[in-house]
Amino acid sequence: MGRLILVSGPSGAGKTTVVRRLLEQCPIPLKLSVSATTRQPRPGETDGLDYHFMSAEEFERRRHAGDFLECCQVFGGGSWYGTLADTVTSSLEAGKWVILEIDVEGVQMVVERYPEAITMFLRSATLDELERRLRGRGTESEEKIQRRLNVARHELKFIDRYKHELINDNVEHVVAEMCEILHAYEKENGATVKR
Ligand code: 5GP
Repeated sequence: MGRLILVSGPSGAGKTTVVRRLLEQCPIPLKLSVSATTRQPRPGETDGLDYHFMSAEEFERRRHAGDFLECCQVFGGGSWYGTLADTVTSSLEAGKWVILEIDVEGVQMVVERYPEAITMFLRSATLDELERRLRGRGTESEEKIQRRLNVARHELKFIDRYKHELINDNVEHVVAEMCEILHAYEKENGATVKR
């Protein structure tokens, strides 16, 4: 049986880059869970790889069918995001350590069901730095940037609920730190390592 790793942090804190790098570099058998969302794909995003992009109707149907391990509307009533239960449970059964990159609300829902989940909160050193990164990405309108910054201020209040807080001042460092944390858990439960 694998383990669940829940990674949160404000939009723009570099979660996606860090998680991608962790998948490449950490020798633990990691698997990234691909979430479903009703938001529009950004340029360069691929359906099934970055997200399962869904219409609001399909998301609603699957939500009622109980297909989601957790789901919620991120960014104050904007788009829906959710984790499909099937893929997570089958990967865990296959011995994978499954990474969920989800928001604070989603984490609470998953932790209720999987209290042993490894929870990590990734943030940039300051909110100014976060704002700079969001603007640098150049994909969001001013209104969306402000909304994301407000959500970031809100999310930072939940740090205490996470087992690990990581500051993304340097991608290499933070990836190494995450990998070390996972190794410590691995020693604890004696999981098999892919070398
Ligand atoms: P973005 O639109 O920038 O890809 O993601 C926005 C936010 O949605 C991120 O902070 C991310 O943590 C959150 N998110 C992505 N997928 C999920 C999911 O499946 N469930 C929940 N609860 N949040 C998610």
